[in-house]
Amino acid sequence: EQPVLQVDNLEVTFKTYGGTVQAVRGVSFNIMKGETLAIVGESGCGKSVTSSAIMGLIPSPPGKITNGQVMFNGRDLTGLAKNELRKIRGADISMIFQDPMTALNPTLKIGDQLIEGIMQHTSISTADAKKKAIEMMKLVGIPNPTERMKQYPHQFSGGMRQRIVIAIALMCEPELLIADEPTTALDVTIQAQILELFEEIQQKTGVAIILITHDLGVVAKIANRIAVMYAGKIVETGTKREIFYEPKHPYTQGLLNSVPRLDLKGKPLEPIEGTPPDLFAPPVGCPFTARCPHAMTVCEKIMPQQTALSQSHGVNCWLLDERAQR
Ligand code: SF4
Ligand code: MG
Repeated sequence: EQPVLQVDNLEVTFKTYGGTVQAVRGVSFNIMKGETLAIVGESGCGKSVTSSAIMGLIPSPPGKITNGQVMFNGRDLTGLAKNELRKIRGADISMIFQDPMTALNPTLKIGDQLIEGIMQHTSISTADAKKKAIEMMKLVGIPNPTERMKQYPHQFSGGMRQRIVIAIALMCEPELLIADEPTTALDVTIQAQILELFEEIQQKTGVAIILITHDLGVVAKIANRIAVMYAGKIVETGTKREIFYEPKHPYTQGLLNSVPRLDLKGKPLEPIEGTPPDLFAPPVGCPFTARCPHAMTVCEKIMPQQTALSQSHGVNCWLLDERAQR
């Protein structure tokens, strides 16, 4: 089976007055139909830039994809013209952002916003588009869809608005859905409901989901596989089991230690000390060297390559690499 999306050695830079930021530094991953891949990391690690690059939404200039491929169903998206990308965006690949309010137009009825994209991307009739919109409203769990279609965004709660955004994203039956912090702006109860909705939709439609988040609780709930990003690189990747129960990269271990657990109630968090490296001049060796409790001489001199621990589990750390001379 061919992956829906295959990203190979993606590099993205941004030119600023202060120099060139190397935001994404050789990222590779793939995602299969019906799978949820979570890309996790602290803010500034390159996870959102990676998703923008997939969607062809890097503002250029100052941004630029300087290397790599983004293969979507066998087609390299990095080589496509803007109008070609526009055809794919919203139809074959959809994106959901953190704040549902900015994704909706406050002056347009929900029904019109639902059918806008599909009318643009296909030759469907207005009547059929409306039918489809009602179907999608039902799929995302909005009661009385026919009535609700006539209302405006402010007449819905935050959770309902995010459901509408998801319905809009699904109108053209995309093969890939990219959700960037989709539940961060919602309260905990609604967050759980939206995550359940993602799972339900995936079971019904087989859509592949890339979930971009810094929240390991969200990841634990719905991810199948996880890629941990640090300083523009993927430092560890594996199944949810492998990452949560057998984390091997010191950064992944640190992230997991900083999560409050029920059994540790009342104990203080253990955040990882220090800050990520400056991406204007990223270190030549392992980017985690300055914060790593296990750093060795080789770490700051040579970038660790990926060591495969299983078919699904890979880690970029000299601790796991037999070639390291300690
Ligand atoms: Fe730590 Fe070295 Fe592994 Fe980097 S390569 S995470 S510095 S042990
Ligand atoms: Mg972000």
